[in-house]
Amino acid sequence: MFNSTEIGIDLGTANILVYSKSKGIVLNEPSVVAIDINTKKVVALGSEAKRMIGRTPDNIEAIRPLKDGVIADYDITTSLLKMIMKITSRKLGMSFKKPNVVVCAPSGATSVEKRAIQDAIRSSGANQVFLIEEPVAAAIGADLPVDEPIANVVVDIGGGTTEVAIISFGGIVSCHSIRIGGDQFDDDIIQYVRKKYNLLIGERTAEEMKMEIGYSLLKHDEVSMNIRGRDLVTGLPKTITVSSYEMQEAMRDSLLQILEAIRATLEACPPELIGDVVDRGVLLTGGGALLNGLQEWLREEIVVPVHVAPNPLESVAIGTGKSLTVINKLLKAAK
Ligand code: ADP
Ligand code: MG
Repeated sequence: MFNSTEIGIDLGTANILVYSKSKGIVLNEPSVVAIDINTKKVVALGSEAKRMIGRTPDNIEAIRPLKDGVIADYDITTSLLKMIMKITSRKLGMSFKKPNVVVCAPSGATSVEKRAIQDAIRSSGANQVFLIEEPVAAAIGADLPVDEPIANVVVDIGGGTTEVAIISFGGIVSCHSIRIGGDQFDDDIIQYVRKKYNLLIGERTAEEMKMEIGYSLLKHDEVSMNIRGRDLVTGLPKTITVSSYEMQEAMRDSLLQILEAIRATLEACPPELIGDVVDRGVLLTGGGALLNGLQEWLREEIVVPVHVAPNPLESVAIGTGKSLTVINKLLKAAK
């Protein structure tokens, strides 16, 4: 058992990453599968499937089987994981060994949701499966000293959720998880453009707008972008120009809810740890951490230092992988 391979999996709502200690990140794909609804067969996964969202014939459906950080469609998630395991074993040359897997679960997940994650990984061909809390994995991945009695505050803005956690001595001292993240921003943008311009745009366009001209609620030099959609009045294609200040308006409520979750977590911080928070500040991670101006805006709002993880999209995966070392030790000790 001890010479079986170990991998870490970040089963995110938006992206799935696989990490191995020897090779680092071996797979990084959007959490999307394309399915032929007549045959129920998976025809594509990852970025190939993501490209198909909203632009395929009726019989092909692009599905994101994870929602709000947890499994929304169990069977499709399992098919997706099986394919991921196959690609991983090909890359690692571990075809004869079932790997031990560390996988993360959002701290806000219920025990039923956590069990589903574990079961799905097991039925995709894993040996032993270990769950780690996502914010702890993110903190380990960003090299924070999580096993010391020092407060580490992590804000992980993913696709489906934002998790805010104070971690000290290897565990979560206080946390808040809200079901608002990058997907919500995309949806906010779609609704805004629809209401203001009577223009229908797709998810991909909204996400591109968010990355390019999306902005935290901060004063900045205005930027704008031309986008295309379908005019809801004439039914014809139309191009409009949207500015970063309009994006702020669209995303305002969601941004404020994220801020509120951070405030609430800091307010629940035990007094002995407040000094650490003030000195060391907050670490932003997850793809949402890359939103323009987010770091500066939060710094102004919560008046403690705000840092962005060195690679926000990879911290959790790297953290699950690093925690393998610890788990391997425990396994050996148990023998
Ligand atoms: P998850 O852990 O849920 O899979 P990720 O941490 O991978 O999520 O983050 C994915 C989210 O980050 C998506 O909503 C994506 O649109 C968003 N994102 C990625 N890059 C940027 C960027 N530069 N600006 C704003 N949002 C971004
Ligand atoms: Mg994540």
